[in-house]
Amino acid sequence: MIKKTDVVIVGTGAAGLFCALHIPPELEVLMITKDEVDKSDSFLAQGGICMLRDDQDYDGYFEDTMRAGHYENDSASVDVMIRSSQQVVKELLGYGVEFEQDEEGLVFTREGGHSRPRILFHKDVTGREITSKLLERARERDNIKIYDHTMMLDLLCDTSACYGLVVCNRAKEIFGIQAEYTVLACGGLGGLYKHSTNFRHITGDALAIALRHDIELEHINYIQIHPTTLYSEKPGRRFLISESVRGEGAILLNKKKERFVDELLPRDVVTQAIHQQMEKDGMPYVWLSLEKIPQEEIRSHFPNIYQKCLEEGYDVTRECIPVVPAQHYFMGGIKVNLSSRTSLPRLYAVGETSCNGVHGANRLASNSLLESMVFAERAAREIGLQHGTVSERMPEGLYHPEAYSDLEGLREEYQRTVRKAIREAEDRRKDSRPE
Ligand SMILES: Cc1cc2nc3c(=O)[nH]c(=O)nc-3n(C[C@H](O)[C@H](O)[C@H](O)COP(=O)(O)OP(=O)(O)OC[C@H]3O[C@@H](n4cnc5c(N)ncnc54)[C@H](O)[C@@H]3O)c2cc1C
Repeated sequence: MIKKTDVVIVGTGAAGLFCALHIPPELEVLMITKDEVDKSDSFLAQGGICMLRDDQDYDGYFEDTMRAGHYENDSASVDVMIRSSQQVVKELLGYGVEFEQDEEGLVFTREGGHSRPRILFHKDVTGREITSKLLERARERDNIKIYDHTMMLDLLCDTSACYGLVVCNRAKEIFGIQAEYTVLACGGLGGLYKHSTNFRHITGDALAIALRHDIELEHINYIQIHPTTLYSEKPGRRFLISESVRGEGAILLNKKKERFVDELLPRDVVTQAIHQQMEKDGMPYVWLSLEKIPQEEIRSHFPNIYQKCLEEGYDVTRECIPVVPAQHYFMGGIKVNLSSRTSLPRLYAVGETSCNGVHGANRLASNSLLESMVFAERAAREIGLQHGTVSERMPEGLYHPEAYSDLEGLREEYQRTVRKAIREAEDRRKDSRPE
């Protein structure tokens, strides 16, 4: 069976939803997601979303993003992201998203690597606030349909274009979705790691599928480790202690409860300092103290963190918590241009799955929700402009549902493929370093 639609989007995180909402309403959009619609990393974002505050802030914001990315960023992408940030925030407010405000207007917080506060937030559940409102708006649209528990197994493509997807639903039925345009918004790859802040089902499937069809990837070994997740011996997703906690004054301490690093340095630098300290101390964690943050502020700005730590047996208003670095974000991905177009015609990639070079070698805190939405909107705009210019015909013989009957085997193969590609890219990088 093959269903037909104008646009198919894989993923219901911020990138997929923002893209869907910007596709012209006369086009039919079908979104699919592997799990429940609200099980995406976008829902987990705590800290916030960056916004250019005013013209004077441009140089500082640009430099902070480039410095955090070790100047490996694509400067045109950075420029587009920063200049689009106010418009994205305006649209979010229009969708009903509530950011912290006081009598003077929007309130900004600060995180590591930022030279000034420029991050909007909603308590410590900014991702949930943004993504749930996007989802509500998408559900109101007549032209957008969502299939949950429906996994992309492959692309329907040849070397000249992408014509849609092969998918499998909850009932284990395999079917095709033929579309004029296909958008991959599948998030990162944290599910491949033992310790990660990501949902376990986010395993970089789009990368494996891209490799299968020789679609260009970039920086597949650029993985961000978050310096502070709550230390736990239990298996599963690691709970993030947002960087804005350090932005508001929390400090890192060694075994003897002495400070050992400037907590507001970029993530990779703080992570390295923590790893070195853990080794020196012979401990599997370091301490984070929130003592300098007023108790009221902890309860109002970080209620989710406060509650979660209480459940784990720590009262952050009275005591230090043990923290450890964990895999958090993927800077590399499917290579795209400024319109999020991949190397395969009629295929787009947006959000964490894609790489437009905005983050360089290391993402600046709170740039990812913004980047996801800025470039998702650009993909949608181009798709809207190009609609109707390509042939609706799909070449014969591309659809072979029987090839996907061993689902477990396929999942394992995809995960193996991505792990191997990361290792090989890492080896190449080491080989190219001077002695
Ligand atoms: C704990 C945590 C805190 C964070 N805090 C912040 C923050 O404060 N600020 C910030 O800017 N960023 C933050 N981030 C990063 C940010 O949340 C993500 O980078 C961003 O939301 C990615 O959005 P996305 O839409 O690309 O992917 P996601 O939101 O991860 O969505 C991916 C979607 O793809 C679907 N999918 C994947 N594979 C398949 C498949 N094979 N078939 C069908 N569907 C599939 C998933 O089910 C999901 O719906 C945080 C991330 C985490 C994990």
